[in-house]
Amino acid sequence: MTLPLHPETALCSNLDRKDGHLRFAGQDTLKLAQTYGTPLYLMDEDRIRHNCRLYRDAFAECLPQGSMVLYASKAAAFRQMCRIVGEEGLGLDVVSPGEIYTAQTAGFPMEKVYYHGNNKTDEDIAFAMDAGVGCFVVDGVEELLALEAEAARRDLRQKVLLRITPGIDPHTYAAVSTGQVDSKFGVSIETGQAEPFVGLALAQPHLDVAGFHCHVGSQVFWEDVFERSVIVMMAFIRTIHDRWGYLPEELDLGGGYGVRYVESDPEIHIPRKIANLAETLYAISKRLDLPVPKILMEPGRSIVADAGMTLYTVGSVKEITGYKRYVSVDGGMTDNPRYALYGSQYTCFNAGRMEEPADVAFDLVGRCCESGDVIQPEVPFPAATKRGDVIAVCTTGAYNFSMASAYNRLLRPPVVMLRGGDAYVAVERETLQDMARLDR
Ligand SMILES: *Cc1c(COP(=O)(O)O)cnc(C)c1O
Repeated sequence: MTLPLHPETALCSNLDRKDGHLRFAGQDTLKLAQTYGTPLYLMDEDRIRHNCRLYRDAFAECLPQGSMVLYASKAAAFRQMCRIVGEEGLGLDVVSPGEIYTAQTAGFPMEKVYYHGNNKTDEDIAFAMDAGVGCFVVDGVEELLALEAEAARRDLRQKVLLRITPGIDPHTYAAVSTGQVDSKFGVSIETGQAEPFVGLALAQPHLDVAGFHCHVGSQVFWEDVFERSVIVMMAFIRTIHDRWGYLPEELDLGGGYGVRYVESDPEIHIPRKIANLAETLYAISKRLDLPVPKILMEPGRSIVADAGMTLYTVGSVKEITGYKRYVSVDGGMTDNPRYALYGSQYTCFNAGRMEEPADVAFDLVGRCCESGDVIQPEVPFPAATKRGDVIAVCTTGAYNFSMASAYNRLLRPPVVMLRGGDAYVAVERETLQDMARLDR
């Protein structure tokens, strides 16, 4: 199971090697591990900006004026991320007061914030209106009425999008699929519930219905999920127009382009995808005799995933004679629960032994008291891998930091940003005092 000679460069252009060491964004990962300690989240700021621009430029070129890319902050939410995507001109998709507060205190323009979620409490709604959140994505009738009541109390007209379930199964992992008819999110077209939902929304004096939102799923490679969404949603818009005489200004297609975690994952050419999507959109609008709505998209993973890497230090290497070998590191499912949750694949390297053949299979496991604490099974590492070595797990920029837990009271790693050959701390390492701060 020897890997090709330089597998890292095939995965992403921000990976290479020098003097036997893995480099990330042009920097020596061993040096970074030494300077900042492990476990350590690294984020390549230049790559984040590059990914933002791929979307932004394709949008400007192919889609109607006023179309906007929203970064789905749940993929990685901390203040510096909000500042970076804000500087790149993106809007923000948030799902909680915590994400709203993060954006607000980072100085993010709140009118470009879209607030999602299938359970917004009255307190959440009031908090978001106080913060000046630009748009609520309404998940159902009860939320609609709660929003109307709060907007009336404040004597304002609140911009909203209505979340519609298009009835599309994205053929991805069940836990990250949201567009099928029995999803907990949104109001379904197929069951006939979406039409009266729109009618009810249009009748609310304090709500300004800007359009519709749908989101099919995450880590989607299936050829044309967004095009399918456009086709279904434009047909829905036609029906709504005929019934209620209403035309939406905005159509939000959600997030979901997949990224490459391992070499065998297909590579998605985002500008080409968006160009194809635009072509479908214009053609179908013409066929249905509808004006072309402004398009919104909410990429999370594809903005940050390949901009991230996690570094660990090996604590032990164990061979169970005749069975298997384990490499245990100083982090685990607390900083990266994705294998435990979804069986996600990752590409991993022994960062200081890049010139040694990686031809022995090890299970890469964490330090939690849990047999399921596996970062990745069957990883090829060099035979000499031992205590003190630095292990790099690639493509951890999305849903690692944001899904980190406090299990076993392990401390959360810091986030160090890499920019133009420099490094700086964006989120500090949690301390024992931080960890116990709320204990009485
Ligand atoms: C999760 C999610 C996204 C982002 O999905 P990615 O796969 O990270 O691009 C966008 N919009 C909504 C509503 C989501 O739930």
